[in-house]
Amino acid sequence: MTKTPGKKEQGWLEFTYKPTGEAIRFPVGTVYGVEEGPTLVVLGGMHGSEFCGIEAAIRLFREVEPEKLKGTLKVVMIYNLPAFENNLGFLVPQDGINPGRVFPGDPEGSFSEVMAYHITENVLRTADYYVELHGGDIPEALVPFVNAPITGNEAVDEKSRELAMVYNIPMVVGGDLTQLPRPLHTSGFRAMSLEGIPSILAESGKQGILTMEDTERHLVGLRNIMIHLGMRKGTIVNTVKRMFSAEHAAIRSEVDAMWYPAVKLGDWVKESQVIGEYRNVFGEHISDVKALFDGHVTVIRTSPHVDAGNVVIELDRVTGHED
Ligand SMILES: [Zn+2]
Repeated sequence: MTKTPGKKEQGWLEFTYKPTGEAIRFPVGTVYGVEEGPTLVVLGGMHGSEFCGIEAAIRLFREVEPEKLKGTLKVVMIYNLPAFENNLGFLVPQDGINPGRVFPGDPEGSFSEVMAYHITENVLRTADYYVELHGGDIPEALVPFVNAPITGNEAVDEKSRELAMVYNIPMVVGGDLTQLPRPLHTSGFRAMSLEGIPSILAESGKQGILTMEDTERHLVGLRNIMIHLGMRKGTIVNTVKRMFSAEHAAIRSEVDAMWYPAVKLGDWVKESQVIGEYRNVFGEHISDVKALFDGHVTVIRTSPHVDAGNVVIELDRVTGHED
């Protein structure tokens, strides 16, 4: 192994959205280790009010010491800074688009697409491994989970799954991308896995609340990944029994309405079971929401306001458990 001087750098990665002249800015930190090794990219704030992921990204960057690091750690503290600055759930305010639907981006596209293009070109594609941190945005609550995409490239998929398995979160989702239409405009971790970079999404947190418990859950997972990849020394923390989901399905509203869930996080529901209902603002019933399959309630929209297209429930089809 070559010895190189370790160092830590932080600063703003800046671009311009040409149609309006607005700045596109990302706070990024890089830790260069003293020995050669893989490049791990960790990104917080894909959704700008998911603070537990953001805080975990910041703390990871602060705690990793170059002198004890093999390889390179790159951390994007807050990807969706416009949402963060406006206390906004999910969307990039300039174009009202969820950034998790536009990767790998487009240099000639809308604000969100140009943001995605620049971070992909300059940061994500430099990764050997990529971890995208989420933390339960303002209108949602969730059971922590990790999602390792299945792309059909077995070598990549196996490494993504290893990252998910060492994250120390019980719900491990294998998200199958093989049947989806191409080209896929999707989340960052899915887009990178399709380009051959082992990648996961990790969710811990809810309702745009910063808690140390949910932040620490991310930090344990991130430290475990770095130990697993040989980037730092230590013992992998493994305190959970895992369950495995073959399908993580989002139920979206077809109406603008008020939303009343009839289930709790962690409930097990049966196919066609009524799991919530829509009412109008006068309290009149519009329609029921039914479970798509027998599954585990992993995400619930907790804001009573829904627009058509908003996710109200995310269900997991659990196919196995660790003993
Ligand atoms: Zn998110």
